[in-house]
Amino acid sequence: MKIAIYPGSFDPVTLGHLDIIERASALFDKLIVVVMHNVAKSPMFTVEERMEFLRRTTSRLSNVEIDAFGGLLAGYAAQRGACTIVKGLRAMSDFEYEFQMALTNRKLNPNVDTIFLMTSAEYMYLSSSMVKDIALHGGKVADFVPPEIEEEIFHRMRKDG
Ligand code: ADP
Repeated sequence: MKIAIYPGSFDPVTLGHLDIIERASALFDKLIVVVMHNVAKSPMFTVEERMEFLRRTTSRLSNVEIDAFGGLLAGYAAQRGACTIVKGLRAMSDFEYEFQMALTNRKLNPNVDTIFLMTSAEYMYLSSSMVKDIALHGGKVADFVPPEIEEEIFHRMRKDG
C-alpha cells in the first residue's frame, strides 16, 4: 500500500490546501494529512480545531486520514510506513526552503521521498495568513476557504478579535 503524508500548519485549511489534498489522494492508496504543531509558530486555531476543519472538508475522500504530530517529520513518516511526503508549491519563493527541507528529510529517512504538486493557478496567492488577515478585518473569506468552514472561521475570528 502506497501511503503519503501531507504536512502543514493548516491554520486554517484553505481551498489551496484542499486542491492539493484532492490531487494527492488520487495518486496514493492513502493520504495522511498531518497538522504539525510547531513551537516557533503561534497558531490562531488549536490543533483540535484545525483537525476538525480538515475532517469536515475532506469527509467525502475515503482514503484521507487526519492526524497531528509535533516531532520530526522523517520519524513520523517511518512510524506510519509512508513512502512519500507531499508538498504544495506556490511560487519560486517557496522553493529554496522546501528544497532544503526535502534534502534534510531524505538524509534523516532515505526511504522517504518528497514530491511537489504545483498550485492550481487560481490559488497561487492564497495562504492561511491571508485568510486570517481578511477575517480579522471583517472581510468575507468565502472565496478562499471550503464552504463547510467559512461561517465558523468568520465567527471565531470575530469573537477572538
Ligand atoms: P501556509 O504556508 O499557508 O502557512 P501550511 O504550512 O499550512 O501553509 O502549508 C502546508 C503545505 O501546503 C505546504 O506545502 C504549502 O506549500 C502548501 N500550500 C499552502 N497553500 C497553498 C496553495 N494555495 N496552493 C498550493 N499549495 C499550498
